[in-house]
Amino acid sequence: MANIETQSILVVGSGMSGLSAAIEAAEAGYDTIIVEKNPYLGGRVAQLHHYFPKLCSPYCGLEINFKRIKQNPRIRFFTMAEVTGISGEEGNFNATIRLNPRYVNEKCTCCGKCAEACSMEIDDAFNYGMKKVKAAYLPHDMAFPMRYVLDPALVKSGEAQKVKEACPYDAIDLTMAPKTADLKVGAVIWATGWKPYDAKKLETYGFGTYPDVITNVMMERLASWTGPTQGKIIRLSDGKAPESVAFVQCAGSRDQNHLPFCSGICCLASMKEATYVREQYPDAAIYIFFIDIRATDRLEDFYTKVKKDEKIHFFKGKVAKITQDKGKLILRVEDTTKEALNEIAVDMVVLATGMQPNTSENPVPTQVPYDDYGFIASQHAKPGIYAAGCTRTPTGVSESVQDGTAAALKGIQSITRR
Ligand SMILES: Cc1cc2nc3c(=O)[nH]c(=O)nc-3n(C[C@H](O)[C@H](O)[C@H](O)COP(=O)(O)OP(=O)(O)OC[C@H]3O[C@@H](n4cnc5c(N)ncnc54)[C@H](O)[C@@H]3O)c2cc1C
Ligand code: SF4
Ligand code: SF4
Repeated sequence: MANIETQSILVVGSGMSGLSAAIEAAEAGYDTIIVEKNPYLGGRVAQLHHYFPKLCSPYCGLEINFKRIKQNPRIRFFTMAEVTGISGEEGNFNATIRLNPRYVNEKCTCCGKCAEACSMEIDDAFNYGMKKVKAAYLPHDMAFPMRYVLDPALVKSGEAQKVKEACPYDAIDLTMAPKTADLKVGAVIWATGWKPYDAKKLETYGFGTYPDVITNVMMERLASWTGPTQGKIIRLSDGKAPESVAFVQCAGSRDQNHLPFCSGICCLASMKEATYVREQYPDAAIYIFFIDIRATDRLEDFYTKVKKDEKIHFFKGKVAKITQDKGKLILRVEDTTKEALNEIAVDMVVLATGMQPNTSENPVPTQVPYDDYGFIASQHAKPGIYAAGCTRTPTGVSESVQDGTAAALKGIQSITRR
C-alpha cells in the first residue's frame, strides 16, 4: 500500500491558480498542502477592486474558495511559508519548508487592542505603500485567515512587551522563531504567480518622483473601498479629484530593456480602470495611450463597450516621456496614425505595468526549465512537478482557474500511477 504522505499534493502559492489546484484535488479526495509566502491566502486578486469583464468583486469568488477550504479537512495550509528544497522523484518527493513567525497564535480574535497599543508604523504592503499601518496589523480587511501579524521590527523593539501585554487573549507569542519542516509528497504544483514590474526602472516616466504618476495595481487599491482612500480616486499629491487621467500602456512590457513580452492583461486592466474613473467622474477626460490593443476572444466585447464612451480617447502612440509643470503631468507622445508629436497635459497618470514572474527571482528549488523571461517553460515542469497560472505565462483569472484545475489532475495522476 502506498504511503499516505506520498499520496499528498503540495501546492506552492495560493493565488487563483494555486487555490483552484488545491481545492479541486482535495475535492477529488486527495490530501493537499498549500504553502503561501504572504500572511493571507488569495494572491494578487485579493488586491483587485473589480474583475473584467463583468466588473464584479473578486471577493465573491475568493470567499467561496475559502469556504471550500474551511469545509474540507483534506486541505492544510501554511501562511508566511516558503519551500526551500525539493528532492526525490515523481510520487515520492521530500520538500523542505521554512515557516516564518507571525508572533500571533490561533487565539487571536482580531480585537485590535495590540494595534491600539503600538506606536510603530510600517508601509502598508497590501496597499502598495500608499498608506502606513501599525506594526501590529491585520494584513487586510478581508484577510483569510483573519489573524493579526507582528512585524519583526516591532518584535525587536522596546515596544514589543507593551504590545504583548495589551492582548486580552494571550494570542501574542514573542518567542516564535523561524522553523523548518520536512514534508513527503507525491506531486508538486508550482503556482507562485507574478509581481508588478518595478515602475521606478522606467526612468522617463517619473514614477517615484511625481506622486500623481501611479501604477495600475495602485489604481486597483485606490478604487477599492478597503483601499487607502476608502475607494475615492484622488491625486496623491493634493487629494484633489482628477479632471483628466491618462493610462500609459506597455509600461515596461514589450520593451527589450525591461519585459520583452506582452503581459497580456494590461490593456483590459486599463479599460477596466477607466470604468472606475468614469463611475466617479462622469466628465473626466480619459486617455489610453497604446501601441496596439490586446483584447482577445470574448474580451473584445468589453473593449467595444468601453470604446462607446466618447470621453475615453484611445490614442495610438507610445508615451516617450512624462514631465511635470504647474501641477499638471505632461505626456510627450507621437500619434503614430498622423506622425505628429503631441504634448498632452493631465492630472493623473496610470502606468500599465506588466507582470513579472516571481520565478524570475525566486526559482523552484529544483531544476526545471524556464523560458527567456523566467516563466516556467511548460505545464509539465518535470515528472511530478507542474506549473500553473502566471508562473507559466501572463494570464487572467479564468485561465488561471482552468490551469490550476488541469495541474490538479496531473498531480493526481502522478500519485495514482505509482
Ligand atoms: C492591474 C491588474 C489588474 C488585473 N485585473 C484582472 C481582472 O480584472 N480580471 C482578470 O481575469 N485578471 C486580472 N488580472 C490578472 C490576475 O491578477 C492574474 O490572472 C492572477 O493574479 C493570476 O493568479 P496566480 O495564482 O497565477 O498568481 P498570483 O495571484 O500572483 O498568486 C501567486 C501566489 O503565490 C504566492 N507566492 C509567491 N512566491 C511564493 C513563494 N516563493 N512561496 C510561496 N508562495 C509564493 C504569492 O504571495 C501569491 O499569493 C489583473 C492583473 C493586473 C496587473
Ligand atoms: S493579537 Fe490579541 S490584541 Fe491583537 S488583535 Fe489578536 S487578539 Fe486582539
Ligand atoms: S496587454 Fe496591452 S498594455 Fe499589456 S503589454 Fe500587451 S499590448 Fe501592452
